[in-house]
Amino acid sequence: MPTRDSFIARRLRPFGSSIFAETTRRALQHGAVNLAQGFPDFDGPDVAKRAAIAAIEAGHAQYARMIGVPHLNAAIAARWEADGKGTIDPEREVTVTSGCSEAIINALVGMLDPGDEVIVFEPFFDFYTAGAAMAGATCRFVALHPPRQPGQDAFWFDPAELEAAFTPRTRALILNTPHNPTGKVFTREELRLIADLCLRHDVVVISDEVYDRLILEPDRPHISIATLEGMRDRTITLNSLGKTFSLTGWKIGWAIAPPPLSAAVRAAHQFMTFSSATPLQHGAAAIIADPGDAPARTAALFRENRDLLAAALTRSGMTVFPSHSTYFLIADHTPLGLGSGADFITHLIERIGVAAICCTAFHHRAHLGEPLIRFAFCKRKDTMHEAIRRLEALKPAR
Ligand code: GLN
Repeated sequence: MPTRDSFIARRLRPFGSSIFAETTRRALQHGAVNLAQGFPDFDGPDVAKRAAIAAIEAGHAQYARMIGVPHLNAAIAARWEADGKGTIDPEREVTVTSGCSEAIINALVGMLDPGDEVIVFEPFFDFYTAGAAMAGATCRFVALHPPRQPGQDAFWFDPAELEAAFTPRTRALILNTPHNPTGKVFTREELRLIADLCLRHDVVVISDEVYDRLILEPDRPHISIATLEGMRDRTITLNSLGKTFSLTGWKIGWAIAPPPLSAAVRAAHQFMTFSSATPLQHGAAAIIADPGDAPARTAALFRENRDLLAAALTRSGMTVFPSHSTYFLIADHTPLGLGSGADFITHLIERIGVAAICCTAFHHRAHLGEPLIRFAFCKRKDTMHEAIRRLEALKPAR
């Protein structure tokens, strides 16, 4: 054996093993209901499945075109247009990737050089910081704080802290709206503030919008920052099939960006995966062209699940923060007095039989995440009922 303590590259060593793989493993080991890793426990729509099966049977077995099968690119562009976001060129401005995860890495690796800086709101989805590290870039963090004041009902950031994060080296800002893990939907005012700073500092926005169809409150509409005045030319908008259509395992995502930014995404994509699974792209095109009421039905289920879960967690004595979108909510475990965030998670998985994630995993400044626990509620009704039944045993320490 070669003599090295670790074969993991120095830039990836700080990340350890993915919190999602880790908590799913612990949930299985202890027979806990998995409200940790965010994936639905039910099937995606028949329209998508039938089209993918037909594509396999029709012999679509070879590499897809690098940028995506033409009618998938066209369906994505048509949907953008139907949403009133303007016209885009499916050939030059849409790139299909293996999930939004790959699109995140492509955008970062394709655009950044070592020494460049990226602004990230924390808590964050862990791919952002790992992707920045792969690019050799440095992250600067801006906190999203839990609502605490009367009248506040969403996670918020301090505009001065955001402004101070911009330096002459800042190349990109990663926005995630609706936001994992908080369920925050950024408001038009917040987006305008972010946009103005990015315009002033000549910074590109990488906007991860995978939860855009999972809006749980009608008065919190999703807004794509690319549609704000001045932003079309400096935004890479990312999305995927997985969250909207409960097909997370299909790993079909995409990036929408003007040609110069699409060129950067493609520069990485062509050597990252080259192309994504051909039959699944056919399935994706079918459901994106004809979604019916699938996203609305899913959102309705998740809304009910959120309310059931929030009530159960409140009964346990936790402080539950409002979630307006996605399929996650955050609750503060500290009123229960069950120890650190890690202690609480162990108690929850091993004694109560429910798995969740402590938000230290989503923070650079771990102490900010220490009180906060993320629960996923993208599950069948019976799974949620079982989780809630188990949560009745969760009580403050005596
Ligand atoms: N997006 C999902 C979550 O936040 C998990 C993604 C993954 O497992 N890599 O739970």
